[in-house]
Amino acid sequence: MAPGRTLLDKVWDAHSVRELPSGQTQLFIGLHLIHEVTSPQAFAMLRELGLPVRFPARTFATVDHIIPTGSQKRPLADSLAEEMLVALEQNTRDHGIRLFDPESGKQGIVHVIGPEMGLTQPGTTIACGDSHTSTHGAFGAVAFGIGTSQVRDVLATQCLAMARPKVRRIEVTGKLAAGVYAKDVILAIIRALGVKGGVGYAYEYAGPVIDAMTLEERLTVCNMSIEGGARCGYVNPDEATIEYLRGREHSPEGAAWDRAVAHWRNVASDPDAAYADVVQLDGNSLGPSVTWGINPGQSVAVDEKLPSVTSAPEEGRAQLAEAFDYMGLRPGEPIAGTPIDVAFIGSCTNGRISDLREAARVARTGQVAPGVRTLVVPGSQAVARQAEAEGLPEVFRSAGFDWREAGCSMCLAMNPDKLVGREVCASSSNRNFKGRQGSPTGRTLLMSPAMVAAAALKGKVTDVREVL
Ligand code: SF4
Repeated sequence: MAPGRTLLDKVWDAHSVRELPSGQTQLFIGLHLIHEVTSPQAFAMLRELGLPVRFPARTFATVDHIIPTGSQKRPLADSLAEEMLVALEQNTRDHGIRLFDPESGKQGIVHVIGPEMGLTQPGTTIACGDSHTSTHGAFGAVAFGIGTSQVRDVLATQCLAMARPKVRRIEVTGKLAAGVYAKDVILAIIRALGVKGGVGYAYEYAGPVIDAMTLEERLTVCNMSIEGGARCGYVNPDEATIEYLRGREHSPEGAAWDRAVAHWRNVASDPDAAYADVVQLDGNSLGPSVTWGINPGQSVAVDEKLPSVTSAPEEGRAQLAEAFDYMGLRPGEPIAGTPIDVAFIGSCTNGRISDLREAARVARTGQVAPGVRTLVVPGSQAVARQAEAEGLPEVFRSAGFDWREAGCSMCLAMNPDKLVGREVCASSSNRNFKGRQGSPTGRTLLMSPAMVAAAALKGKVTDVREVL
């Protein structure tokens, strides 16, 4: 008897238009999300080719990367940002695509608004011209980040030419201790498997720790699949997924809801599905993680010491030495106590309401340390409204944090929120590459939002378990 099938295989087969001579699949894309940075060239190519958008109702747009988080009043203070927003407005108007701009009250980071509006649904394929599209896999969708020419392809045909990835099941066993979050789980996975360990794979996250996670926590895990090299990452839909989607703006209703739920239950991987690889991680043993280097795989638990270069395999030593040199840190030293200049809470990894609640819990315990610059940036206007309803901005402001408007902010710093010089930033975002946060010499330490808040209060990397 043939083995059962994974979610990846079921979704892939259901969306396959045909096999291409290249060996790739022409894959139908159920949902296309676009933003201001990677779409203008794609629309220009479409204009040159004289092609319309094939399925405008399957495409949704937002503005996130360039939007300032100080004042979003139009015209935007930065004329280039204003120009990009005007171009997005024009392109979406010309092609009948729905745009969630700041005036809509629904604007936010593309990977935050899709799930919160119920656009992101199980069993579908999702593409977006942004690396962290893997986020949407938290709902049991197969979601890819794509390049600009592929954005053009999806606009013109609603299809992509894609190679089917193998599936690696990652089971996180046990139970997370207090002060250990979804961010710590994914940082530990990437540390264990490497930043290139997932090349050619889709990651299926499973096991008791993942099962116990909320959908927001699963979004954090899936968000960083790409940082482990995986093409996408997903969690099988379950009752928590269905409950999250019930009553959302774009969720099906009435009989369509019942049909959708039946489909969502069926699309989960079969119990006897065959995997290319299965790995296990002990959730009981995880502590709060902090990256110390220049890729998300270079992390340690907050109570660990930094690795020594000489104990690393020969082929990895040059990379370790480069990371120590750039970061100005020393092998064998503890990461706890490393002074920080900036604390950034936000991004598509950790800018959701549950992230802000946890950070606020820490903020309630003290005051931001003198000299530390802070930014608390909700992932969307809806997150901001919910936070306001719960009094969170006041909690942050009273502790000395700077509460901002929704956007990508200092995750990528394509807006005024940037590091200066060699500043060290405790950041809840997803990339710690050289120069990622706006200064060519700026340094990023990735950690959970609660850990960022703790670092802000103490002015140095701190074990959040000592604060809560
Ligand atoms: S928050 Fe960062 S990673 Fe996420 S979409 Fe924005 S720039 Fe990209």
